[in-house]
Amino acid sequence: MTQSMHMANSFNPAAAVALPEADSELLERRQRVLGAPYRLFYQRPVHLVRGEGVLLYDADGRDYLDAYNNVPVVGHSNPVVRARVSEQLSVLNTHTRYLNDAVVNYAERVTGLLGDGLDQAVFVCTGSEAVDLALRVSRHVTGRRGVIATAHAYHGTTEAAAAVSPSLGPNNPIPSEIELVTAPDLAAEAPEQAAAAFAERVHQAVAALRARGHEPAALIVDSIMSSDGLQGTSPRVLGPAADAIRAHGGLYIADEVQPGFGRTGDWWGFPGQGVHPDLVVTGKPMGNGIPIAGLFGRPDVLDRFGRDVRYFNTFGGNPVSIAAADAVLDELIGRRLLENAKNLGASLLDELRTLATEHDSVTGVRGSGLFFAIDISDGEGAPDPARAARVVNEMRENRVLISASGPAANVLKVRPPLVFGPEHAPRLLDALDAALRATR
Ligand code: PMP
Repeated sequence: MTQSMHMANSFNPAAAVALPEADSELLERRQRVLGAPYRLFYQRPVHLVRGEGVLLYDADGRDYLDAYNNVPVVGHSNPVVRARVSEQLSVLNTHTRYLNDAVVNYAERVTGLLGDGLDQAVFVCTGSEAVDLALRVSRHVTGRRGVIATAHAYHGTTEAAAAVSPSLGPNNPIPSEIELVTAPDLAAEAPEQAAAAFAERVHQAVAALRARGHEPAALIVDSIMSSDGLQGTSPRVLGPAADAIRAHGGLYIADEVQPGFGRTGDWWGFPGQGVHPDLVVTGKPMGNGIPIAGLFGRPDVLDRFGRDVRYFNTFGGNPVSIAAADAVLDELIGRRLLENAKNLGASLLDELRTLATEHDSVTGVRGSGLFFAIDISDGEGAPDPARAARVVNEMRENRVLISASGPAANVLKVRPPLVFGPEHAPRLLDALDAALRATR
C-alpha cells in the first residue's frame, strides 16, 4: 500500500462519520493499542467478519463486493485452499532443512511456469522479504551497491525495500545509493516512445549514481507499475530499460508481487514487457492469504549467493504455506482463472471506457486483465485526489470496495479477486457510475 493511497482513502478521525456504538468502541481500542501505523480504509470503516468468493460480509450480515483485494486471488475462504491447509496442518509443518516432497514439487511447478532460465526458488514469507533478498543477492553477485527504482514505486517494508519505495512519501529517506527514474507515462506517450525514453532515463540514472560514487547493482521495477499509476498495461515498455541496466553490468529485478499469478491474464507481467529478468519477486496472491512469497532466479545468480552466504528462512516454504500455494495453482488452472482475467478483463475495460465517456471527471482508463486504473480529474484535466477519495467512499457506502493510488492519489484502483465473474460486473459498474454522478 502506498502513502498516497492512505492519504486518499484512509479513515480520518477528524472527519469521522457516526458509527454504531460497538464499532466506535472497537475503533477506540484499536487506535489505542495499534496506533498510527494501522490506518483504516474509508471514512466509515468497514467491520468485516467473513468472506466468501468475491463477497465480504460485515458484522450486520451485509455483503460487500470486493473489487480491490488481490491476495484472495482464488476467492475469500476458498474451500480447496482451506482443505489443503488444514490437512497439512494435521500432518506436518517443519522448516526446509529436512527432505520433504512438497517444497520441491512446488518449486518445480512454479519455475516451470516462469521459464526463461529462472530455474531456482527461495521461499520467504512476504513480498518485502523477497525484495530485500533480491537486493541483497544483486549486491552480493555484482559487488556493487547502487539500485535504480521508479519514482513512485512501492516495494515493501524492510529498510532496504523502503529505500526503493519513494511512494512512502517525503519522510521515508531515499539513500544516496538509490536513484529514481520517472515511470513511463502511457497517458502522454505511445508505448514505443515511452519504452525508449524510459531506457534513456535508466542510462542517466546510472550516470547519476556514478557521479555519487556508486556502481549500479540492479534496476527493480514492478512489471505493472501499479503504484506509479498502473503504467505497465501496454506491452513491451520495459524491455529496453532491462537492456540498459545490463549494458552497465547491473541485474534486472522484476517485482511480480502485483501482476504475478494471473492478474493480467498471463502468469506474469514480465514476458509481455519483453523482459528477461535475472531475478523475480512474487508474493501477495501466492498463498491466497497464507504468508508465502518467493524469489526466483537463474541458478548462477542464486547459487553464488547461497554458496557464499549462510542463508536460512525459518518459516519460508514450510509445508503448510506450500500446501496453500499449491492449492492456489490448482484453482487458478482448474477454474481457468487466467482466461477469466483476460476475457472478463477485456470486456470490463470496454465497459469502463464507455462509462468514462459520460463523466468529464474521468480522463483515462487503463487495464490489464482484472486490474484497472481510472484517472480522476477536476474536469479541467488536473488530477483530483479529493474527488477520487470521494468516489471511493461513495462506492463503499454502496458496498462496493475499491481504492485509489498513483503519484497524485487520483487513480482509482480496481483489482478484484480473479474469481470475479460476469455476474458481478453490473454491480461494480453501477456503483462506479452512481459514485461518479454523486461526486460531480
Ligand atoms: N512489491 C510490490 C509491487 C507490492 O505491491 C508489495 C505490497 N503492496 C510489496 C512488494 C511488498 O509485499 P508485502 O506487503 O507482502 O511485504
